[in-house]
This record gives sequence, C-alpha cells and structure tokens, in this order.
Amino acid sequence: MTTNVTAYAAPAAKAPLERTTVPRRAVGEHDVLIEIKYAGICHSDIHQARDGWGEGIFPMVPGHEIAGVVTETGSAVTRYAVGDRVGVGCFVDSCRECAYCEQGLQQYCEQGMIATYNGRDKAGDPTYGGYSSHIVVDEAYTLRIPDGLSLDVAAPLLCAGITLYSPLAHWKTGPGKKVAIVGLGGLGHMGVKIAHAMGAEVTVLSQSLRKQEDGLRLGADRYHATSDPATFEQLAGSFDLIVSTVSAPLDFDAYLSLLKTDGALVNVGAPEDQVKLNLFSLIGGRRTLAGSAIGGIPETQEMLDFCAEHGLGAEIELIRADQINEAYERVLDSDVRYRFVIDTATL
Ligand code: NAP
Ligand code: ZN
Ligand code: ZN
Repeated sequence: MTTNVTAYAAPAAKAPLERTTVPRRAVGEHDVLIEIKYAGICHSDIHQARDGWGEGIFPMVPGHEIAGVVTETGSAVTRYAVGDRVGVGCFVDSCRECAYCEQGLQQYCEQGMIATYNGRDKAGDPTYGGYSSHIVVDEAYTLRIPDGLSLDVAAPLLCAGITLYSPLAHWKTGPGKKVAIVGLGGLGHMGVKIAHAMGAEVTVLSQSLRKQEDGLRLGADRYHATSDPATFEQLAGSFDLIVSTVSAPLDFDAYLSLLKTDGALVNVGAPEDQVKLNLFSLIGGRRTLAGSAIGGIPETQEMLDFCAEHGLGAEIELIRADQINEAYERVLDSDVRYRFVIDTATL
C-alpha cells in the first residue's frame, strides 16, 4: 500500500514549486524508509524543474542530495537499522546485471540508472525526489553518513561531493598535480575542498574575484577571474587537470589552452545549450576533453568516508521550504554560498 507524504513539487515546467503530497511505495523486503532531514538544491534541480533538458515528468519533486534517518526496515534488510544516518544521491536503482552495475558504476548502467526524481521506477511509476518528508529506497542504493559529518552539511555531498570526487580521483589528483576548478558554486566549492585534501595545487577560475577570499579559505592556492583576458595569457599551458562545473555553455577552446600537454579538461556542467569546439584545441597538446557523471554507490561511500576523515562538509545556507523558489533565482544569478539546503522540518 502506498503512503502519501508531504513534498514540494513543480506542477509544470517553469511553474513555481508548491506544497503538495506524493505517493511512496510500501516498504519492500530490501527497502528502508528514510525520514528526510535535509535536501540540497542542485543546479540540476533547476534545469529539470524548468524542463531545460527536455522530457521532464510533471509534477516533479526535485532533490537528489538527501540526508536523513532510517525509520523502518524491510524484513531482508541487513545493512541498516532504525536510527541509522543515511543518504540518497542521484539514483535509486539500476539494472544490477550489466558490466557497469557489476563494477559499481551504476551511474553508467547500460539500461540507464533510475533517477531519484524525474525518472520511472521498474514498475513504470514516476520517481519523486528529496524535497519531501520521507523516501523509500532499496538498501543497496542507500549510503551511510559517517558520524563525523552532520546531516545538513553532508546532504550536498550526495551529488556535489561525488560529482567532483569521482573525476578528481579518476584523473589521479594528488601532490604535484596542478588542478583548476572552473565555477565556484555548489559543485565547484566541493571540488576545491576535495582537490586540496587530495594534496593538489588548486586554482579557482571564477567569473570575477568576488568570492576570492572564500576560495582561498576553502583550500585554493590561487584564484583568477575569467572575465580578465590576462588570466588566459598568464595561465596558458599550466594545468594537469581542469574540471568545469559551469552550468552555462563555455568557451572550451579558451580553457583547453590552459592545459599542459597530455592534460585533461573534464566537464561536469550540464548546460541546456550546445557548445562549439575547435578540434585544434585538442590536437596541439594531445589534450583530452572528457565528461563525468556523479559516481557509483561504492565510490560515493568512499567519498563520504573521505570527507568525514578530512572534515569536509559543504558550506551551506539553510532555508525553509517556502524559500525554494527564491533560492532557485539566486542560484541562477550565481548568488549562492555555496549550497542551499532545505530544512525539511519546514515542509
Ligand atoms: P551552481 O551552484 O549554480 O554553480 C555553477 C557555477 O558556474 C556558478 O557558481 C558560477 O561560478 C559558474 N557560472 C554560472 N554561469 C556561468 C556563466 N554564464 N559563465 C561562466 N561561469 C558561470 O551549480 P551546481 O549545482 O554546482 O551545478 C553546476 C552544473 O553541473 C549544472 O549544470 C548541473 O546541472 C551540473 N551537474 C552535473 C553533474 C554530473 O554528474 N556531471 C552533477 C551535478 C550537477 P562563478 O560565480 O565562480 O563564476
Ligand atoms: Zn545534482
Ligand atoms: Zn546496469
């Protein structure tokens, strides 16, 4: 039997989010029922609530940075008990059989991962995300939040944290590596913290110097404004790795010129419009342009444990549910320091 729970939903594309209820399935034998305490606002929520990527399912309850507490467990659940502090990220299931699922790379599942919201579960029903009071998730797609992290600052790690941790780890960030993070927003600020904790020399490339003090405090060694053309001359050929978190189309040729020979520019931003690329930007320095999507379940747990060990939570602005629409506008204006997190007690 399904239960209706309180949520905030966009009733249609571009419509303001409003209070409503959505159904949650009965707790199955492998499921946990989670009382959601905090839900981060990712820029992906805004792209999707406004149907910027197309094919959105409405009404839509966004939210894939979920932190809460287990309040019920199914009969076959072995990993979690009532009272455990847990998180849910961008997906709640996948085929579990393909080569990627078997390797723990569920985000690249051949059948497509089942997104936490704006997706359809295996029964064909729409999925609803974290801007809600409760969620029912299979224990295999649930993460443990280590004791050292409080739930509010842990919530954004479930998307922003893992989306930066995964490429930084994959491209072997560490001592002696020069890494640039483009865009100091939700993803970018976690990138700075994590790359610094991994031992790299970190540079922030932001549109202006407005947030320079913060960037240096978060762990950056250098900070440059991309609005200043001198930045691109000064930093030409200097990075091993650049991770772009920018939510709008970017001049990738300009950023590729900042890589050393054999350097890589990894794009994680998901703009709604296409970008142009001059392939000579890659040829000259045997450079790589790559993409990366969140991270699988094992790597997400590894990231949470890494963040707890290094004391890395997100920098958050806690908001009430009735401030979500205003928060969306501020994210669109790059006026976020550095993640809005909804206190779900205010739903
Ligand atoms: P965010 O908090 O809005 O941060 C994006 C940052 O990009 C802004 O703070 C701003 O930084 C910079 N920026 C924005 N517009 C720009 C423009 N026109 N030109 C240059 N820089 C600009 O967003 P987020 O939540 O971090 O998400 C960033 C992007 O990643 C979104 O597109 C989101 O959908 C995507 N995403 C992808 C994945 C994945 O798995 N690949 C996961 C999560 C999110 P400055 O003010 O410092 O310039
Ligand atoms: Zn996200
Ligand atoms: Zn699969």
